[in-house]
Amino acid sequence: MGCIFCGIASGEVPTNVVYEDEELIAFRDIQPQAPTHLIIIPKTHILSLNELKNEHRGLLGKLILLAKDLANKEGIGSKGYRLTVNCGSEGGQLVPHLHFHLLGGRKLNDWLG
Ligand code: 5GP
Ligand code: ZN
Repeated sequence: MGCIFCGIASGEVPTNVVYEDEELIAFRDIQPQAPTHLIIIPKTHILSLNELKNEHRGLLGKLILLAKDLANKEGIGSKGYRLTVNCGSEGGQLVPHLHFHLLGGRKLNDWLG
């Protein structure tokens, strides 16, 4: 079985893409938990936060700056939003390809919300 997010990154799996460049892709979550719920990923297959290396520093910097820009594009920059990474089974990570959740557009009250 292939990786679903690699499928999205390569264009084989159609999805609602909001941003794409050579290294990163952002798309709408299939089961949104808030009015804005984007998934932002590096196109390269990194399993989780645990697999990050020094060589990924630039990539991650770009990803976080992109998250901020996308929050502004979605109109939630000034009201506020949440950028979350789940890691491993107890962290709630279901898809084993590193991804950041960008959530906003409603009041997020607790860590699960
Ligand atoms: P995790 O629990 O791994 O942090 O989050 C995985 C997220 O990916 C979930 O919010 C889930 O709805 C989303 N997701 C899983 N499969 C797909 C898919 O095929 N397309 C899109 N757009 N989102 C997906
Ligand atoms: Zn992958």
